Amino acid sequence: MSGRRDAVVRCDGCVGCCASSQFVHIGPDEVETLAAIPRALLFPAPGAPRGHVLLGYDAEGRCPMLAGDRCSIYEVRPRTCRTYDCRVFVASGVDVGDDKPLVARRARAWRFTIRTPEDRRARDALRAASEFLRERDASLPEDVRPVTPTQRAVLSLAVQHLFTGSTTPPLSRVVAAIRRRRP
Ligand code: SF4
Repeated sequence: MSGRRDAVVRCDGCVGCCASSQFVHIGPDEVETLAAIPRALLFPAPGAPRGHVLLGYDAEGRCPMLAGDRCSIYEVRPRTCRTYDCRVFVASGVDVGDDKPLVARRARAWRFTIRTPEDRRARDALRAASEFLRERDASLPEDVRPVTPTQRAVLSLAVQHLFTGSTTPPLSRVVAAIRRRRP
């Protein structure tokens, strides 16, 4: 979900993330994607540099590129869609939220296997990171404060490495790490 490579997720026909009232960000470098989507469906992404746009959703919360239960532009779907991985909620322990029941249902079905002490440490560190971000939300500067559960889950991954020890890192270190590693 850092945007650097595609997620490999067995969706098994689930299109929950395409039908959950989510805005899909598209960068100016996604030329083929932009060419495949009618211009009228795109609008400038608030606060982002020129050229970054968002694809919205219809009155039922469905992406307008969904045709039945398939993405009509799958081969050139946006990077946001290619990198989305609902397992991040289970891994981080972040609640998807009541407004996205389809994603919540799919996410709840995932199970992680903890095989080694290292696995457990990684899982615990990620959970500690997401809990820290939840508890300290009001203290976080605006530019790093997660707005959505998805953002909190992804930022937890970005600072997970700070929570592997027995002591809680200071807020300033977490903020600096987010600014450095933010996807
Ligand atoms: S562009 Fe395709 S993959 Fe992305 S949300 Fe829309 S239907 Fe789903």
